Amino acid sequence: MRYPGRVMLTEVGPRDGLQNESREIPLARKIALVDALSATGLTRIEAASFVSPRAIPQMANAAEVMAGIERRAGVTYVGLVPNEVGARNAIEADVDEIAVVVSASESHNKANVNRTIAESMQAIAGVAALAAAAGKPWSGYVSTAFGCPYEGAVDAARVLDLAREMHGAGAFAVALGDTIGVAHPRQAFEIVSRFLAEVSGPQLRLHFHDTRGMALANVAAAMEAGATQFDGSIGGLGGCPYAPGASGNVATEDLAAMLAAMDIETGVDLEALVEVAWSVEELVGRPLDGRFKRAVRGAEAAR
Ligand code: ZN
Repeated sequence: MRYPGRVMLTEVGPRDGLQNESREIPLARKIALVDALSATGLTRIEAASFVSPRAIPQMANAAEVMAGIERRAGVTYVGLVPNEVGARNAIEADVDEIAVVVSASESHNKANVNRTIAESMQAIAGVAALAAAAGKPWSGYVSTAFGCPYEGAVDAARVLDLAREMHGAGAFAVALGDTIGVAHPRQAFEIVSRFLAEVSGPQLRLHFHDTRGMALANVAAAMEAGATQFDGSIGGLGGCPYAPGASGNVATEDLAAMLAAMDIETGVDLEALVEVAWSVEELVGRPLDGRFKRAVRGAEAAR
């Protein structure tokens, strides 16, 4: 048996998803979305991003979101932070966990945060110190781990080095991000195999965007190589403000539906997730990429 018995899903829609929406989402709707998601059985939710409101206006009320949500027992609420200022605000807002990001390619890192990778790693060390002092666990994303919009191919060895460096700085987990959705299953299989063989210590998560429709295939290949943790975005919300043309993460409900069909436990109530996915389409005012919910409705209509 090559597939895991259980997989842990992280919902990133309220952060990675909403930050890319042009329509302003009212605070109350953001809070309601996080609460609806935590009610589906998801145990890890990226609820907010503590970036400067000038950089990403949609994330302006991160602290208010954290203060307004129901903190459901057993659910980890994660706050993304770009720097030490963000980390202080996230700690003040009492996130359960902090997440940081560095790109595996210099030009994407420059476009994303206007820093070199070395400067980002220095900022991450500062965040790590604050997190440690506050007793908060933290994890790190290596974004553009499968390809860069400016540089093209990204060397896997560099990705693994950054993962080691993050873990050395204190990260308990590292997520490899396919920020622009160019990963393919063979690449996913190979990088997960190498990570598990060559990077000892941190937990591994995979964060696939579905730009080319390969995200679920990548998840399957990553599981075959031993991965057990994946990010999804409800409805398939998202993109990347600094990665033109990138579409959202794999839809959480599509991911959950595939895993359920494969008899892999997630602890998530699929029907409830589908309901939330429909509400998110209404919230952002446009159809999203997630397909499972339409298949369900189609099957119901055909009966
Ligand atoms: Zn992403």
